[in-house]
Amino acid sequence: MEIKKIGIVGAGMMGSGIAQVAAQIGCDVVMRDIETRFVEGSIKKIDGFLSRGVEKGKLDNKEKDTIMGRIKGTLDMADLKDVDFVIEAAIEDLDVKKGVFKELDELCSPDVVLATNTSSMSITEIGASTNRPDKVCGMHFFNPAPLMRLVEVIRGYSTSDETIKTTTELAQRMGKTVVEVKKDSPGFIVNRIMLPHFLEAIRIVEEGIASIEDVDKAVKNGLNYPMGPFELMDLTGIDIAYFVSEYLYKELNKENKWVAPNLLKTMVRAGKLGRKTRGGWYK
Ligand code: NAD
Repeated sequence: MEIKKIGIVGAGMMGSGIAQVAAQIGCDVVMRDIETRFVEGSIKKIDGFLSRGVEKGKLDNKEKDTIMGRIKGTLDMADLKDVDFVIEAAIEDLDVKKGVFKELDELCSPDVVLATNTSSMSITEIGASTNRPDKVCGMHFFNPAPLMRLVEVIRGYSTSDETIKTTTELAQRMGKTVVEVKKDSPGFIVNRIMLPHFLEAIRIVEEGIASIEDVDKAVKNGLNYPMGPFELMDLTGIDIAYFVSEYLYKELNKENKWVAPNLLKTMVRAGKLGRKTRGGWYK
């Protein structure tokens, strides 16, 4: 089936970026969230991103309007009834995701692939909440989705080869580099490598070994990474780092290396969630 219309569930940071990428390859997009302000905020964000592209001469106003015209926001899940492919990017909460997938399974045509952008959670468990676990897989974009090149395509226990092929081809159409995660394992590839690096950076600050600024400076200049761990957590969300660490601790044999440092918990409890606009490590 040719994918012409894509449903996005969750119009937050990732949902809006993925919606933009989908519209840029010529697909119609229906993006669903639970409150008008999230949907409107997302559409404004995409508009702002494309306007900056126009200023830089990467596209013209007509192309921008065409892309914007393909994106429809909604609060009603039923508007995803006739989509050809779904990418779920709701909050990182397993019960929420399972509820969303159950609803999508009842709504969408049986041949439609339902993909999740979860950062760490079990594709198998999410798939088991549907009657089409063979058509459920992970499609993990990175932030910001319009700019980051990688997509991890993740196989759940029941995911079919055809689902992996369809999802890989869609990600490639979006201009992404695809890696296949062959086993459903918490954190997949990138987050399993990235999380210990975040947590160790926080512990270094907590133990008074170095400042936040100097840890970032050290990693950027010593390892040649484009961003330090604290800058990256500010961009991706401190709450996401916390939830992923809790999840990996629970799922990966409760090893101490996954335990969230107290400083991370405190930041999340204080609402210092990062993403630049909401505070974070550098505030
Ligand atoms: P976010 O908090 O910015 O957005 C999540 C959105 O989901 C919110 O707008 C919320 O209202 C909405 N939502 C909650 N329940 C919903 C429901 N039942 N139906 C529709 N929408 C619902 O979060 P985010 O950073 O965009 O993350 C979304 C997903 O993408 C998470 O699973 C996260 O782990 C994953 N992810 C995040 C990043 C990142 O860097 N932030 C990177 C890759 C993957």
